[in-house]
Amino acid sequence: MSDSASSPDLHTIFGIEEGSLSEHEPSVEIEPAAPRDAEEGYEGDVSGGASQARAGAQGTDAPAVLGEQDPVEHGPAPLEASEADREGAAAASEGQWRGITRASRRGSSARFLTDVIVDLGFVSAQQVKEAVEASRNAGTTPERILLESGALTADQLARALAERYGLDHLDLSVFSVDMGAANLISSAAAKRYQAVPVAFVDKRTLLVAMADPSNVLAVDDIAIMTGHEVRVAVAAPEDVAALITRLNRLEDAVSDPDALVEEGGRGEEVVELHESAEDAPTVKLVNQIIAQAVERGASDVHLSPHERELHVRFRIDGVLQDVTTVPGRSAPGVVSRVKIMAELNIAERRLPQDGRVSLTVDGRRIDLRAVTLPSVHGEAVVLRVLDRDANIAELEELGLGQVERERFEAAFNQVHGAVLVTGPTGSGKSTTLYAALKMLNTPEKNILTVEDPVEYQMEGLTQLQVSRKGGLTFAAGLRSMMRADPDVIMVGEIRDRETAQIAVESALTGHLVLSTLHTNDAPSAITRLIEMGIEPFLVASALDCVVAQRLARVLCTTCKRRTIVPTDVLHANGFKALVDLEGYEPVGCRRCNGSGYRGRIGLYEVMKVTPEVQAVALERRSAEEICEIAVRQGMRRLRDDGLEKARQGLTSIAEVLRVVGST
Ligand SMILES: [Zn+2]
Repeated sequence: MSDSASSPDLHTIFGIEEGSLSEHEPSVEIEPAAPRDAEEGYEGDVSGGASQARAGAQGTDAPAVLGEQDPVEHGPAPLEASEADREGAAAASEGQWRGITRASRRGSSARFLTDVIVDLGFVSAQQVKEAVEASRNAGTTPERILLESGALTADQLARALAERYGLDHLDLSVFSVDMGAANLISSAAAKRYQAVPVAFVDKRTLLVAMADPSNVLAVDDIAIMTGHEVRVAVAAPEDVAALITRLNRLEDAVSDPDALVEEGGRGEEVVELHESAEDAPTVKLVNQIIAQAVERGASDVHLSPHERELHVRFRIDGVLQDVTTVPGRSAPGVVSRVKIMAELNIAERRLPQDGRVSLTVDGRRIDLRAVTLPSVHGEAVVLRVLDRDANIAELEELGLGQVERERFEAAFNQVHGAVLVTGPTGSGKSTTLYAALKMLNTPEKNILTVEDPVEYQMEGLTQLQVSRKGGLTFAAGLRSMMRADPDVIMVGEIRDRETAQIAVESALTGHLVLSTLHTNDAPSAITRLIEMGIEPFLVASALDCVVAQRLARVLCTTCKRRTIVPTDVLHANGFKALVDLEGYEPVGCRRCNGSGYRGRIGLYEVMKVTPEVQAVALERRSAEEICEIAVRQGMRRLRDDGLEKARQGLTSIAEVLRVVGST
């Protein structure tokens, strides 16, 4: 503070009007959290803080937000995504703390901001010298001149400011914002202060992204408004403004067409609705969670109660990711609100319930299927997001190789027989079946489906929804369908002997049957049906083709990075390869929300049931033996299809291993 001339003119840098700030050196006063040892990395600091909190709470209510973060990055380079992905759950929790850079040393009044900018390598010493010269007569700061000339980006300036004052820097394009934290202040206040709480450091302390870290007034006000201590981090003004706009937009994005009509007619429930769930912040928070889930293309939203808070996670491209944490006192309101939306009994908390709600999010019609599950810490809710306006994919968009596609198409274009698609839950089986149905869907064909749930409604089809309450099982649905003179039958899933028996018999009596089965690979479909109690000769003669599949995430084309995977590494991971693989690995950028991936593509293994395959099926041979024959007859295995797609740069080897496993 001795050298007031070295203090940058923040007013000028940020275009803030005079009079709102006092003359001060902001590095210490605005940092109410305990001083940190600058020589330690952020990691040490974080875990130290978390374990303190844990000790204070006797291990019961440690803030999971920070305590569970594994490695936190130190530099601006994003974490090795392929490595992170192998860690599974750990990767998801890291997401939130990506994009944070700890200052490498304590803020020192002896350094000019321009020196920091040079030290960080953003601009050359010569350019700075010129900017300093130019600023002399220009009535502005050298930083401003560098910014305006384009030599320095706003984010680099924010990074330099953070470094200068020993604060954290946030790259908001990568950092995953905790909406529970963001909702603690009004958007008007956020706009006024150009500041948004973005995470809970621990249960008492908020991490607040600020465009102008010198705004003591803002820090004090946010502390009072939220009842939390404030730890300041610096972010580029444009990024903070964009974040505020985004939060605002999400608030308005969700509309429930039925919400207004429903009130008043519910007796007891209405009372509780007004008492707890109807209060505005809860509604706003739930709306934001749903809007963000839709915006980010999540297939499921998980609301999981823990001892002191509710964890919100999204499943995006098949991978669960931490999104936010709702503090304990707000948690019951959030769950109640969701239950009200899905027309569930909010007084019932001990039995699982199942409901639905239709919403419009940013003009898109969304169906949410809500399932509640009682857990030790309260009710958990899983929302399945069904986008009714999503297009049914065309067969050629799914990523089937030429040979595989021809085989599959030939099979489902026959007038009778069974075609099965296999894979675990979430492997895209129904998308593949719908693509086939779309091609089969012509007026001269009677196509019936029995599904749980009906995921897409297709014009021209008769679609039956399985209903456990109403006693309509797959088998019952299938039986009634047989009386309706169908040409093509689609059974959502074969999971019991009765359904399998009817499906096989239908395939043998002049119908085309499409269905799915839970097996790891194509050959196992034969052995699974036989294990279910279907006679081998029926299986062998009914089954025409089996498609096994997985969904692999597609590398983000904006940020993927070239890499070479050596032959021995490929071998060690069970790939057959003669040469090194020249492909790509994930990095993470704004477009892919830091994950390194955007969208998914199918990996396929398509087995034609040839006379040779039939012969071994009749002898009740093992899946391995069936597989051997199929491979000899040209079946490409799942992992080899994955290898091919990694070679094409569509996905990474790590991702192929994640979805295919080591088998
Ligand atoms: Zn990217």
